[in-house]
Amino acid sequence: MLKNDMLEQWDRESFFHPSTHLAEFARGNAPHRVIRGGQGSHIEDRDGNRLLDAFAGLYCVNVGYGRQEIAEAIAEQAKELAYYHAYVGHGTEASITLAKMILDRAPDHMSKVYFGMSGSDANETNIKLVWYYNNILGRPEKKKIISRWRGYHGSGLMTGSLTGLELFHKKFDLPLSQVIHTEAPYYYRRPDLSMSEAEFTAHCVAELEALIEREGADTIAAFIGEPVLGTGGIVPPPEGYWDAIQEVLARHDILLIADEVVTGFGRLGSMFGSFHYGLEPDLMTIAKGLTSAYAPLSGSIVSDKVWKVLEQGTDENGPIGHGWTYSAHPIGAAAGVANLKLIDELKLVENAGEVGAHLNRAMAEAVGGHANVGEVRGEGMLCAVELVADKETRQFFDASEKVGAKVSAALLEEGVIGRAMPQGDIIGFAPPFCLTTDEAEEIAGKTAKAVKAVL
Ligand code: PLP
Repeated sequence: MLKNDMLEQWDRESFFHPSTHLAEFARGNAPHRVIRGGQGSHIEDRDGNRLLDAFAGLYCVNVGYGRQEIAEAIAEQAKELAYYHAYVGHGTEASITLAKMILDRAPDHMSKVYFGMSGSDANETNIKLVWYYNNILGRPEKKKIISRWRGYHGSGLMTGSLTGLELFHKKFDLPLSQVIHTEAPYYYRRPDLSMSEAEFTAHCVAELEALIEREGADTIAAFIGEPVLGTGGIVPPPEGYWDAIQEVLARHDILLIADEVVTGFGRLGSMFGSFHYGLEPDLMTIAKGLTSAYAPLSGSIVSDKVWKVLEQGTDENGPIGHGWTYSAHPIGAAAGVANLKLIDELKLVENAGEVGAHLNRAMAEAVGGHANVGEVRGEGMLCAVELVADKETRQFFDASEKVGAKVSAALLEEGVIGRAMPQGDIIGFAPPFCLTTDEAEEIAGKTAKAVKAVL
């Protein structure tokens, strides 16, 4: 085994890490961490520290670490056939089975699954399909995509543009011109504190209507949204939000893309966020929980309505010119099949709902009364603690104080991983679905300690 200091030197000299302050990392001021193992809700680093991973990696290791059933399915698949492509009608038993298993779980009106490798590429696929759809229907002007401020949809050219977070646009010449943003359904940050949830929903809807009016419905192809805003701060929608938004979209013939990369396969305590909030999407994006990140795999789920037009398109134009070498990679597909079976067998969706509710209750009790905790919010196995300089006025801390990062670091000292979300001082929690109620209480108790240590 390599010596720790040698590994650190190689890391700082050779490895370009995502979302990292490169200069601080090179100078040795930003942490270098080597993770070597994991079991259940815990990971272990190379120095033998055992940490409760209350963010499940990047809200993706939904079934927890160390699942032998999935590891064995991957190994079996690799031994039998590590790779074959999915072009021109090819598949493997694993990829075909997984497509069927996904559709068995998805809303009834969904028709087919297109496989990719990441949430970002699946969203890129969905946008290309929406454009293709409108071209086939003879309306080439109907192309703009509406996304929400604080939405997160990936960091490619189009998906980074759809993402409504400043960090992902800054110095990258994004967003692209086809993307337009509308108000985030962020009730805690409503423009007027006297608004009820229903009034704030009406305000978001009015903003959307005004945007559509300004741009022209005949130039807008689709609206993309996460059922619960994730990376933008873990923000469940206000009362009546999705019903009202869908009514507007239907009226203007604008497709709905449900980005279920975080919410898909159980995180809200329902199989999909679409069931949880009554969404009827035209396209869905899935990744993370599809394999619980045991292998990279994503999917674009296409509704009957869109599928019919795609079929018509290929009759008119020949094969659809879109594909990845690793579409439906057999190892990812084998991981997905084993993962979905495990979720059913262990009733992990139900556990996510029950233990997630416990976590949210315990967190509200543990930190809700602190003078700098503005809000504790969540849904299912998602929870967030928003820190503010002034509880009454909801004033933000100065960004240079890095309060969120400090609380997250103090929490790590306590042995718990909670994520400082990229915008605002918000600590996010998205534990694996196998979390126990004792572990939920440990997360809440240690968060209270960490908040007190910093504020
Ligand atoms: N969509 C949502 C809602 C996400 O949270 C993410 C990643 O966090 C993505 C898309 C992008 O997925 P990936 O990082 O696999 O490209």
